[in-house]
Amino acid sequence: MKNEVFERSLAAYICFAIGDALGATTEFMLPREIKEKYGIHDKIIGGGWLHLKAGNVTDDTEMSLALGESILETGGYSVQGAAEHFAKWMKKKPVDIGSTVRRGIVNFITKGSVVSLYSTFSAGNGAAMRNLPVVLYCLKDWKWFEEMTISQCHITHNNELSDMATLVLGEVTKVLIETGDKKAALEIVSELIKKDPSFSHSKYNGEASGYIKDTFRTVMHYFFDSDNLYETIVRTVNQGGDADTNGAIAGMLAGALYGMEGIPSKWLKTLDQDVVKLITKQTEDLLNAPMDVVLL
Ligand code: MG
Ligand code: MG
Repeated sequence: MKNEVFERSLAAYICFAIGDALGATTEFMLPREIKEKYGIHDKIIGGGWLHLKAGNVTDDTEMSLALGESILETGGYSVQGAAEHFAKWMKKKPVDIGSTVRRGIVNFITKGSVVSLYSTFSAGNGAAMRNLPVVLYCLKDWKWFEEMTISQCHITHNNELSDMATLVLGEVTKVLIETGDKKAALEIVSELIKKDPSFSHSKYNGEASGYIKDTFRTVMHYFFDSDNLYETIVRTVNQGGDADTNGAIAGMLAGALYGMEGIPSKWLKTLDQDVVKLITKQTEDLLNAPMDVVLL
């Protein structure tokens, strides 16, 4: 059972990076443009507006790794540590960085603030995209999950829609890793939709932007409408828009459900092998790390 949790956790993280690497090629494209250029885009070939090398990942995976590293280096969770690791990452001039993320990190560097100003414009997916390390870390003791998630989110995204979606994505990922039960996952999503029907993916309208509701609806539509890992990720990134982030989040859920054996070996081989190593080590360490330090 324990090995199964490790295996599904690892698959979630690896497929997050795969969705990022695959989706970066089609980020900001329209489905029609993708079809014209690639037919079905399902090979990790790099390129895209960031001109990536095949297998390279973007800010989504890098920020997740930075957050995970902060937990392991601090010997626990500290919002200050998380913000410092985000700042360290930004100073390395990453290949991509969202404007809300940049504003939040600059706010930390210049004012020492770990809570960005509340803004209706902070309803992007930039905080939701990097929360997987917190999920993995909290699997052994879920009671801190909500507070840790909200505090890491608010470093850059102080917005209730971002909070709601990030929490639900975490709950869904947990249940999939622990039980592999897709129905239980749907129940969690349905609870959110009851509270706010505009999160509903049932009549998916094809909008796949970085707005958190678009991301949530895109991911949930393709996750629940597909029955294997390949399809979930490929259909998501072929929707274009914020394809790397949406692909990463869809990959996270698909990996958690279908596990390592669902991953096409070509994807696994093409993904940056340094990233694979970092993710493998971090997954193991986060699952084992004690929860001694909690500084929210
Ligand atoms: Mg990205
Ligand atoms: Mg993106």
